Amino acid sequence: MDKLFIDAARIWLLNIAIVLPVYVIFAGGVWFVLWVLLGRVLRPRKIREATPTPRQLRTEFLYSVRSVAIFATASIGVTLLARAGAYPLSDLAATWGPVWFWASLALMIVGQDAYIYWLHRWMHRSRWYRMLHRRHHLSHNPSPFTAYSFDLGEAVLMTAPFAILWPAIVPTPWAVSLLFLAHQIFRNTLLHAGYELTPARADGRPWFDWLTTSTHHDLHHGEAGYNYAAWFTWWDRWMGTEHPEYHVRYARAAGVAPARAPTA
Ligand SMILES: [Zn+2]
Ligand SMILES: [Zn+2]
Repeated sequence: MDKLFIDAARIWLLNIAIVLPVYVIFAGGVWFVLWVLLGRVLRPRKIREATPTPRQLRTEFLYSVRSVAIFATASIGVTLLARAGAYPLSDLAATWGPVWFWASLALMIVGQDAYIYWLHRWMHRSRWYRMLHRRHHLSHNPSPFTAYSFDLGEAVLMTAPFAILWPAIVPTPWAVSLLFLAHQIFRNTLLHAGYELTPARADGRPWFDWLTTSTHHDLHHGEAGYNYAAWFTWWDRWMGTEHPEYHVRYARAAGVAPARAPTA
C-alpha cells in the first residue's frame, strides 16, 4: 500500500512538473505577447474596450494551477490502469501507421468537441451550475488565464472522460493523447485571448468559419445562453444556439466591415 502511495505521488509530481510549465509558459506567453508586447499594434483587434484587472488575472491563474493539479491527478489513474493492462488498444493503435495516427487525433478532438458542447449546456441549465461552472463565468471579460479557471467539479468533468476512458475504448496511440492535450491548451487559451487573431474574408466572416474564434467564445462570457461550443461551430449552428450577432461582432473585432445585404 505504501509503495502504491509513493508511486502515485511520483506520477503526480512528474505530471505536474511537465504540464504546469507547459501551461504557464503558453498562457503567460500569450498574455505577454498579445497584451504587453503587441498591445498597441493589436489594438484594433482587441475584442472589448475594457481590460480585466490584475486581480482578476491573478485569481484566474491560481484556479488554473489547481486545474492542472486535477489533470495530473487523472494521470495517476491512467498510469496505474495502464500498468494493470487496461489500455491494450493504445499499444495496438501505435502499430497502425500514420493514417490512423492522424485519424485518431481528429476523432478524439471531434469527440471532445461534442462532449464539451453537451456538458456545457447541461452545466448552464443544471442546478449544479453554481458548484460546477460559476467560477469560469466570474470572468465576464476573459483573459488568457481564464482558460482553466474552473471549479473543482468542472476540472474533473473536463479531464476524466478523455484522459481515462477514451483510450480504453478507442484505439488511440499515446503520442496522440499528448497532441490532443497540446491542442486543448493551445485552442482553449486562444479562445480566451481577448484579441481576435483569425484571418477574415472580405465579406467579414472568418476564413475557417467552422472553427470557433476568440469572438465566438467571448460572446459566451458576455451573454451566457449562446455559443457553448469548444472547437467547432457545428453544434451551435445545428442546435440554434449560436449568437445571432456573432458574424457582425466578429467582423468588427477582425477589422472588416460585414457585407451588406444587396438592396433592390
Ligand atoms: Zn459557460
Ligand atoms: Zn470560457
